[in-house]
Amino acid sequence: MILVDNIILKDNPDIRRVAEEVSEPVSDEILNTLKEMIEYLENSLDEETCTKYGLKPGVGLAAPQIDVNLRMFALDVEDENGDTFKCGIINPKILAKSIAMIYLNGGEGCLSIPDERGIVLRHKRIKFSALVYDKDTNTLEKKTMTLSGYKAIVFQHEYDHLDGVLFTDKMTNDPGDAEPCF
Ligand code: ZN
Repeated sequence: MILVDNIILKDNPDIRRVAEEVSEPVSDEILNTLKEMIEYLENSLDEETCTKYGLKPGVGLAAPQIDVNLRMFALDVEDENGDTFKCGIINPKILAKSIAMIYLNGGEGCLSIPDERGIVLRHKRIKFSALVYDKDTNTLEKKTMTLSGYKAIVFQHEYDHLDGVLFTDKMTNDPGDAEPCF
């Protein structure tokens, strides 16, 4: 089980590494790590479990944040329309990005940067391909998907972790024409 102590923070140089592609077919060990990452998010979003284990709530967790230098991350997002998107993403490739930009109204936060939030401009819509792990059906499938709004914001935040980029690198005080989300 992943706990807060397993999550590395901003001052750990490992968080700045460019992560490596996951070899396919994906090994059981790596898939289990990804499942544990999804489980962390689920646990953190369950009030009782969150309190019991002293977790910090999160909607995304990238492998580099638990010091695993691989291109994969977990998402557990409920968006502005009440749609949920819970999955594991392996070896994502961003294929297209909208010109239109958005930002999270209250600013982004990060499990690796406690007590800080900031406005970051993100593409409103992105298209990507990846191996997508669906926990409910326990299947791993190569997919091409389009995300928009809050789901796209969280995806781009986690994707940045795979390149050693943190939201604090991209913070701005001027959202310009970008549209607020939430
Ligand atoms: Zn983060």
